[in-house]
Amino acid sequence: MKGHSAQLWKDPKERLPPGSHLPWSIWKTLNRLRTETGRTASNMEKWGIKEDGKCECGGEQDVDHLFACPLLPIECSKEEFLTHEISDKAIQIAAYWEGKGI
Ligand SMILES: [Zn+2]
Repeated sequence: MKGHSAQLWKDPKERLPPGSHLPWSIWKTLNRLRTETGRTASNMEKWGIKEDGKCECGGEQDVDHLFACPLLPIECSKEEFLTHEISDKAIQIAAYWEGKGI
C-alpha cells in the first residue's frame, strides 16, 4: 500500500550530459567544449601558465577558436555540441582537442 511519502516522491530528472558512455577523457573534453571552459592557450595565458595564447595554427586560441581552428580534422560548429544526441563529428573534435590537452 502506498503511503503519503510515496506520493511526494518524484523521479529524478537530472541526467548526465550526452556522451557519458564514451571514455572519460573524451567526455571531459566534450563537456569543456559544451560549457566553454576549456584549457585553451588563451585561458592558460590568462591564468599565468602559458606565455602566449597562441594555437599551433598561429591563431589566438580562445574558446571560439576550438570550433574554427584550421587544423581541425573536420569542420564543425558550436551547435554540434549542444544537441541531446552527441554526433560522431563532435566526438572527433573532442578527441582532437583531448589529444591537445583541452
Ligand atoms: Zn588553431
